[in-house]
Amino acid sequence: MLKGKTAVITGAAKGIGKAIALAFAKEGCNIVLNYHSSVSDETIQEIEACGVTCMPVQGDVSDFDFAASLLKQVKKEMGSVDILVNNAGITRDMLLMRMSEEEFDSVINTNLKGTFNMVRHASSIMLKQRSGAIINMASVVGVMGNAGQVNYAASKAGIIGLTKSVAKELAPRGVTCNAIAPGFVETDMTAVLTDEQKEKMLSVIPLKRYGQVEDIAKAAVFFAKNTYITGQVLNVDGGMVM
Ligand code: NAP
Repeated sequence: MLKGKTAVITGAAKGIGKAIALAFAKEGCNIVLNYHSSVSDETIQEIEACGVTCMPVQGDVSDFDFAASLLKQVKKEMGSVDILVNNAGITRDMLLMRMSEEEFDSVINTNLKGTFNMVRHASSIMLKQRSGAIINMASVVGVMGNAGQVNYAASKAGIIGLTKSVAKELAPRGVTCNAIAPGFVETDMTAVLTDEQKEKMLSVIPLKRYGQVEDIAKAAVFFAKNTYITGQVLNVDGGMVM
């Protein structure tokens, strides 16, 4: 049912974003792969090997004008924007007492404002189409909070509020908006944590394993396929939050 649709995925050169791009490609979607610094030829070839188009676009989602031009280009070249996955995200962990203004602003700008920028410009296209699925990447820490991540947790909690508000605004035209709240997923983002921090995490995961990028990608495909779910936050976290 997703065959031939256009899926735009931000921050999709690696990690969770890349897995999501591949999962949608396997469903037959044409992929618009937004990347920030670089993307490997192998990644693009892996997507194209699924028999779909892959359109790589470099840019910073925190830039309002970039988001506008990206979505305009997608509409022009692909004809529609059916699925938008706002995956791009960063961390700048620091205890509150030592957190700089730059550490706070950069995380809010990329994670929360970046999501707003993309949703803002995709929404007019999706409203006209009277269809579309927006999937935003939140985090369990946006629900629970986390010491050392005031900036990141605030950005992810903001994404949850944004998701529910967008869901209410766009529902009358058949456009859905949901969020995924991953727990601890093994990617470059979590590779920087110490063994002690990782073991502490594992001790609070009832399923006793770290999440894999494919676990998150399956949830994104699920949301894109089900047009009767909107405004929801799905924890994909091995049972960490229940
Ligand atoms: P990752 O491996 O660090 O990947 C993040 C991607 O986002 C990178 O490709 C990065 O590109 C891109 N990006 C960063 N800033 C960007 C910008 N301004 N514009 C466009 N792209 C940008 O992290 P990940 O673990 O896959 O995380 C993906 C998403 O899941 C994030 O939103 C993260 O907060 C969320 N999440 C992850 C976990 C986890 O345990 N891993 C848990 C909960 C939520 P560059 O490297 O080129 O800058």
